[in-house]
Amino acid sequence: MTIRRNQPRKRVLKIDKIGFSSPSVKEFLREDFCGHCAYCGDSDFFYGLGKGFHIDHFAPKSLFGTSATNKYSNYVYSCPSCNVAKSNTWIGKTIQENIVGDEGFADPCSSDYEKYLYRDSHGSIHAVTKIGDYMVNNLKLFLPTHQAFYELEEIEILLKRMSSDYVSGLIPVSCEMKFLEAENTLILFMWNIIDYLSKRQS
Ligand SMILES: [Zn+2]
Repeated sequence: MTIRRNQPRKRVLKIDKIGFSSPSVKEFLREDFCGHCAYCGDSDFFYGLGKGFHIDHFAPKSLFGTSATNKYSNYVYSCPSCNVAKSNTWIGKTIQENIVGDEGFADPCSSDYEKYLYRDSHGSIHAVTKIGDYMVNNLKLFLPTHQAFYELEEIEILLKRMSSDYVSGLIPVSCEMKFLEAENTLILFMWNIIDYLSKRQS
């Protein structure tokens, strides 16, 4: 299956050159990337609804300078793990050369991105091609936390469905107590794991 649950669609701003700390930039990116890391698909729900997410310069600022890279078209909504792993790694000599031969980072907004990687039924990310290998290694997509966050999102989706069934009156009265008990156990379980993962990462 695909790495991300939603394909990002980046808006085109009238003025592309914009400082990454401008208040609206992160808001726009959050919307364009559907609240998920562009590289690994982790949901920002588990990072304080995006407060803990980073803005990555796809072509690194440290290599190409602020003037060439502080552009909305160059910004990527990223979890801290992918942004820190990617750092200033860049295979090409110019901003345009994100891929050279069999190495480099595919543009996460291109429809090709998912062709290099796949997610197995347990939520782990794997490479399909050599470019995929490069991305798995340089973004550390092999880290088990990505699998854990994917599975946690499955629980979050299930909880939303349960809550909607309950509100819609689809749960028989005779099962209500057990249903609410199961829902609370799942919520507690989810937040205990999130707490554990955030302590491990810090
Ligand atoms: Zn990520």
